[in-house]
Amino acid sequence: MPLLSIVVPAYNEQENIAAAAAEVKKHMQQASIPYEMIFVDDGSSDGTWQSIAEQAEQNSQIRGLRFSRNFGKEGAIFAGLKEARGDCMVVMDCDLQHPPETIVEMYRIWEHNDVDVVEARKSSRGKENIFYKGFSKLFYGLLKAVGKIDLENCSDFKLMGRPVVDSLNAMPERQTFFRALSSWVGYKTTVVYFQVPPRHAGTSKWSVGQLFRYAIRSISAFSTAPMQAVTICGFVFFVFAVVLGLQTLISKLLGHSEAGFPTVILLLLIIGSIIMFSLGVIGYYIARIYDEVKFRPRYIVSETTDDKTRSSEDIQPPHHS
Ligand code: UDP
Ligand code: MG
Repeated sequence: MPLLSIVVPAYNEQENIAAAAAEVKKHMQQASIPYEMIFVDDGSSDGTWQSIAEQAEQNSQIRGLRFSRNFGKEGAIFAGLKEARGDCMVVMDCDLQHPPETIVEMYRIWEHNDVDVVEARKSSRGKENIFYKGFSKLFYGLLKAVGKIDLENCSDFKLMGRPVVDSLNAMPERQTFFRALSSWVGYKTTVVYFQVPPRHAGTSKWSVGQLFRYAIRSISAFSTAPMQAVTICGFVFFVFAVVLGLQTLISKLLGHSEAGFPTVILLLLIIGSIIMFSLGVIGYYIARIYDEVKFRPRYIVSETTDDKTRSSEDIQPPHHS
């Protein structure tokens, strides 16, 4: 039977580690699926790492990586995928909002069918507040409109075969967006649906600011539409300028000039703000380019449960001709 690797990013989840490990073990044993579980402690400030180390000691199928600081869920996912030795891999949240039953279902589908990716979609979004719901709707709508990727009701919860993970691991970009990258790479994909149960313990680890930055980052990673919008603005204003220029010239020639002071002020304000906004958009993309060019690692591992040696993502510098 092919080995299943379960990657679990964890940030301040001390109450959830043991429960997640136990639940997964129960379901994998019931279904007799050989598995390994890789917890990635994303720089937690509570007892998450102690809890992971404890689990690893009790169960040789469990391993852990510890980041030197909080690098974000994206870094944790990619660290886990790189570490995974299985023939297929699942990324699962630590709070049991991604039910292990669904993992068994996904594994069976992958095992018996000719598919490379089994994606779990939320059949309903769990209990979330209105703000969060509206925001995610807007975000996915924008992403669909400008990035041509449909991620509505998608999550990071999916099973991927070895070739898919290898392609993901080969991605050179530093600022990743796992949810979209895993559909960008293609492969034969099928979908299962799951109900999102409430969080096992603790609270959601995303702040509003984090979510907002995540949204902007993801959209810019998959689309240059904001920059093209700047060009369109420029074009609209050019047309406007030609019309207004002609009108001004004609009234000058006809001799009834003067007045029009409000027009000047309005034009100045509008054009000024559009230019500043545009510079901001362009600046944002330049900043992103700068981040990629620096080629810093996506994460730094300070400790693992296998051995106490330090390692960090081994990276090859990009080729400069
Ligand atoms: N997480 C992480 N690093 C972070 C934030 C979150 O590894 O900086 C993990 C977290 O421990 C959990 C998963 O990502 O396993 C999903 O987080 P959460 O449940 O807070 O998000 P939500 O379910 O509200 O989308
Ligand atoms: Mg959650």
